[in-house]
Amino acid sequence: MSEQNKEIALVTGASRGIGKAVAIALAQSGRHVVINYRSNEEEAQKTLETIESSGGSGELCPFDVSDGKQSQEAIGSLLERYEQIHILVNNAGIRDDMLMIWMEEDNWNKVLDTNLSSFYHVSRPILKNMLSKRFGRIINMTSTSGQSGMPGQVNYSAAKSGLIGATMALAKEVAKRKVTVNAVAPGFIESDMLEGMDEKQMLSQIPMKRLGKAEEVAGTVVFLCSESAAYITGQVIAINGGIYT
Ligand code: NAP
Repeated sequence: MSEQNKEIALVTGASRGIGKAVAIALAQSGRHVVINYRSNEEEAQKTLETIESSGGSGELCPFDVSDGKQSQEAIGSLLERYEQIHILVNNAGIRDDMLMIWMEEDNWNKVLDTNLSSFYHVSRPILKNMLSKRFGRIINMTSTSGQSGMPGQVNYSAAKSGLIGATMALAKEVAKRKVTVNAVAPGFIESDMLEGMDEKQMLSQIPMKRLGKAEEVAGTVVFLCSESAAYITGQVIAINGGIYT
């Protein structure tokens, strides 16, 4: 099937970790995947190679989701080439942990810009297309940290919690046009993002006593994009090994 006949899925932060697994799983389910990343072209290329080696299709699309102008330009040029963007996974994120007492404005702003304002920067230019086509799936990657708050992550918890509010509000705005908006809230998932965190301390918080895998998050994203999930919107699905939120 040519890419013009496939659903188009944009996954932000798809060069590594959860976004990479989501991109691969969406490609396996027949979508043409637009792989966004900020700067790590080598890893983004590996995501694309994995997709293509199993017969899927994709393309690279680097831009900084924390920058509104860059995001708008990149999406504008995608919409010149594709009549419709069917799926948007707002996954790109960073953390910059420290106690609030040490947190400078820059530590606050960069985490909020990348994890929360990015939702606005990337979703808004695509939304009009989804509404006019009367179809869309938007999935926002939030976190256990945004559901219950984590000490040392006031900036990150604020951003991820904000994303949950935005998910619920936008879901209500666009439900009539068959655009669904949901959030996925992973707990502790093996990825570069956990670098420097104390594994023993993480495991002590997880009833299943193991870290999650990126593929275990990707499966839920693919489900939320499917026809079977057409009546699910405004929800937050936790994937966290049993952490009570
Ligand atoms: P990761 O391995 O550190 O990967 C982060 C990805 O985001 C990379 O592809 C990176 O691109 C991209 N990115 C970062 N800033 C960006 C920007 N400004 N513009 C565009 N792309 C940007 O992280 P992860 O663990 O997979 O996390 C993915 C998402 O899940 C994040 O939203 C994170 O908050 C959330 N999450 C993760 C966990 C966990 O335990 N891992 C738990 C809960 C929620 P480059 O490669 O170019 O830098």
